[in-house]
Amino acid sequence: MDVENTLTNAGSGSLLIGFSNLRRARGERPLVITKGRGVFIADEDGREILDASSSFYCAALGYSDTRLVEAARRQLGQLPFYTTGMHRTVDVALELAEKLKPLVPIADAHVAIYCTGSEAVDFALKFMRYRNVARGEPQRRKVISRWGSYHGGTIASAALGGGRDVHDAFALPMDDFLFVSQPNWPAGAEPGESEAQYVGRLIAELEQTIEAAGPETVAGFVAEPISFSCGFFPPPAGYFAGVREVLDRHGILYLDDEVICGYGRTGHLFAAEPLGLKPDMMSLAKGMTSGYFPVSATIISGELYDWLERGSEQRGTFAHATTASGHPVGAAVALEMLRIVKEDRLLEQVQARIPSLHRHVHALADHPLVGAVRAFGLAGALTLTTARIGGIGAGSAAGGVAMMGAVGRILGRVMLDHGLIVRITGDNAVIAPPLIIQESEIDELFRRLRAALDDAAAELMRG
Ligand code: PMP
Repeated sequence: MDVENTLTNAGSGSLLIGFSNLRRARGERPLVITKGRGVFIADEDGREILDASSSFYCAALGYSDTRLVEAARRQLGQLPFYTTGMHRTVDVALELAEKLKPLVPIADAHVAIYCTGSEAVDFALKFMRYRNVARGEPQRRKVISRWGSYHGGTIASAALGGGRDVHDAFALPMDDFLFVSQPNWPAGAEPGESEAQYVGRLIAELEQTIEAAGPETVAGFVAEPISFSCGFFPPPAGYFAGVREVLDRHGILYLDDEVICGYGRTGHLFAAEPLGLKPDMMSLAKGMTSGYFPVSATIISGELYDWLERGSEQRGTFAHATTASGHPVGAAVALEMLRIVKEDRLLEQVQARIPSLHRHVHALADHPLVGAVRAFGLAGALTLTTARIGGIGAGSAAGGVAMMGAVGRILGRVMLDHGLIVRITGDNAVIAPPLIIQESEIDELFRRLRAALDDAAAELMRG
């Protein structure tokens, strides 16, 4: 077997790369990242790229924080692995749970530690069922999420996601998964509808969905505070308060999925703070270690945790864990991350950067390819359109390429020529750089983005 030959093969070789067009991947070399420093990454050709998507919304501290690396190295030297399960665990997992407890907006929080956001969400779904079985309400197992949302890649967390293309591709959703509209203010409002009226309509839809399903069969509601997955849509005023009121009335639990929004993106540790959310459960991942090691967490309130104990009284062992839950290296890196957030005053740093990022996002509203702009925390988004240049190439990409509209696809390619990555989701471009980005780097990000938009517009107009 000639390894050299394999390595120089075109395309992705034997590696299966998800969220990709695999037909195209057969012939095209993927972007292969080999190095990272600060907010920049470099590919195998040495091209330097400003990563304004923090990889997959993970790299809060960028790509070269030696303190996180050292924490991993220390833990690998001391105890590289032990599982958390069967009434055994590791010291750093215990410590991580204690450190998180006072930081989350959940009373008497209990923390389960996993590796991926999907597992964290999946456990929350499984937990809701377990609790309702223990309460003698096994029929209460339906879960409501929102169209266009994404909550993970396991079969249950994918079923919870609201991407119609994903539903079609994987024969989802499964029974017991229900969907309501994704808030999209102001674009989603009827002509003349006020923000309050729009929110009222969404809340009425939620209420009707619960009524139609039978309130006694609905276990939970799951939402990102700000929907990154479907293109970055901050909630309209009053939305989550309205949701909470309906859920409370029907005894339905609320899972706040902060896999992306948590860990500083809003200038607060959790987006629940600035948005005034009152969740019963939270899922966390990505930023917990800046992505350096896969760590996630499901947080549940003390009141909910009691049901786990009562369930154990009824049937003995609580039969859920994963082999790598509470992984010591992950826990050590996550502890170091929390220490750095405090030591570096990371949240204050983020708050200081927010005005200039917002200014730059709003300045792009004048660009011919931009139909709308949104900004919240250290993130923003552009809705891309060709309407202002005559509607050329508008609509979905040929062949119904999943989750990527035609303009977004062109911009995604052209941006790389300018040494920039922002996340393209359909015809939305989402900007969420590492939280450590400096002012001059924000300027550079938007210089590159505007140049890329100009090139994409020129290409579209050429036809
Ligand atoms: N929830 C949200 C909101 C996410 O964006 C993601 C991942 N993009 C997940 C859950 C799943 O996390 P993971 O990919 O780590 O399994």
